[in-house]
Amino acid sequence: MTQNAEALSSSESNRPDGCIPLTEPQVFLVGAGPGNAGLLTLRAVECLAQADLVLYDRLVHPRCLDYAPTAAARICVRELAESHVDRVPQINDLLVDAARQGKRVVRLKGGDPFLFGRGGEEAEALRGAGIAYEIVPGVTAALGAAAFAGIPLTHRQHASAVAFVTGHEDPTKPESQLDWEALARFPGTLVFYMGLSRLEQIAEALIAHGKPHDTPAAVIHWATTAEQRTVAEPLHALPTAVRRSGLHSPAIVVIGPVVGLRDQLAWFEQKPLFGKRILVTRPKHQTADLIRRLELLGAGVISLPVLEIQDPPSWESADRALGNLALYHWLVFTSVNGVHAFVRRLRHIGRDLRALGALRLAAIGPATAEAIRGYHLEPDVTPAAFRSEALAAALKQRVAGQRVLLVRADRGREVLRNELSTIAHVDQIAVYSQIDAVQADPTVLDSLRREEIDYLVLTSGNSARSLHRLLDEPTRHSFRTGKPRIVSISPVTSAVIRELGWSADAEAQEYTVQGCIQALEALAAKDKS
Ligand code: SAH
Repeated sequence: MTQNAEALSSSESNRPDGCIPLTEPQVFLVGAGPGNAGLLTLRAVECLAQADLVLYDRLVHPRCLDYAPTAAARICVRELAESHVDRVPQINDLLVDAARQGKRVVRLKGGDPFLFGRGGEEAEALRGAGIAYEIVPGVTAALGAAAFAGIPLTHRQHASAVAFVTGHEDPTKPESQLDWEALARFPGTLVFYMGLSRLEQIAEALIAHGKPHDTPAAVIHWATTAEQRTVAEPLHALPTAVRRSGLHSPAIVVIGPVVGLRDQLAWFEQKPLFGKRILVTRPKHQTADLIRRLELLGAGVISLPVLEIQDPPSWESADRALGNLALYHWLVFTSVNGVHAFVRRLRHIGRDLRALGALRLAAIGPATAEAIRGYHLEPDVTPAAFRSEALAAALKQRVAGQRVLLVRADRGREVLRNELSTIAHVDQIAVYSQIDAVQADPTVLDSLRREEIDYLVLTSGNSARSLHRLLDEPTRHSFRTGKPRIVSISPVTSAVIRELGWSADAEAQEYTVQGCIQALEALAAKDKS
């Protein structure tokens, strides 16, 4: 099986190419970074890709879990016990038990496991139980927040040191282990983790011990993600400003003159799609590229797969055609799925790509052409506009009197067959079946119901229809009133969107994923102004 076909077929889809099996050790204490998937380390992704069980903290951003196989068990430690205190032994027992059963366990922690993450205690428990482990560092919240808020933690003119401090301790209590006088005098930047609920006491204690009351300071919420929010004020005014803003945990506090540089250096919050929540409806393994591109523009991407790919109800006609490929002159592919399913089936019936011989190949668009190239084959025809009508027009000049095999799903538009049948002998086979998802992630449906999603990208009429079926009436109604705003990949998809009573607020000029992103960016810019 080729790499592409494998990617399509299994839960191993995100296992890195040529990944070396992780035999020993069995428990990986892995830092997930502050939330942005791009800040996972290469080693974190390697470990996740081969996990049987991922035990993750509440603060791990859900996006990071996408890198584990779909078949891996995922348990949030929040589910283990109500009380914070009770959890640690429970987590340790679970880690040890799973490892003893031979499972590859990833203990995934926000930021870095050894910085306010209790990773030390978990490593001690594993060592005590004789279980081998590896510790994978992560980008800690202070570093992520500083970078994404435009605050250099040190600077030759402003700060020669930086301290990471727990804000969990109450400075007014005598048992506080922190030396507030020393902290107030500290010659550099102070970063408080877990300090939001005690922000008032922290600011007061520092000022009381001599820190200038107008020291620049900031609180950064969910740094590095689309939910990032920053409030910057002089130290004495920060607690009130934060209370007014309604910011909540997770948030980190940065105090020092370097915060003043943010005015010139902030960059992430200026990204074109910053803070926007965007829904995509393709299966996750087919959207990794779209999701990452949108994230790099500052967006938070939610995926709600509305279509599933399955084997066709019958292989009879496909197998007959695949067994007689030499009868045809042209093979026409209208989707990436079609390319992979075709090659997989060919292998299944004991043949390989040599069966294609001198067949000419056509692809409906650049993604399908790329999938064909993935098998080291070059398409002979890709039309300038990526739709059935254009493909039919491009082929019509070349296929007169010839035998054409259309490879596709068991449902779809009949334009190609109808158009080409007038001049050529056309057979059409289904190599996969596209079915509507029967259930959808309830949390995503809730977000739609609460109108928390800003934009929806629809890449086919079928996905528009399937999504419509999954929504309840109040949500369909809010769609009709323009929430979320909808970006459509092509006029054909826009027509379906309108049939459903919704409006296509933007349409891609080039009918590709990249075209959708450009249309979305333009729409977001218009909405902003
Ligand atoms: N081990 C983690 C810290 C765990 S303590 C690390 O290295 O980052 C939890 C605290 O980390 C939170 O209360 C908050 O202060 C901070 N934190 C974690 N992720 C954050 C994020 N994305 N944005 C802001 N603060 C974050």
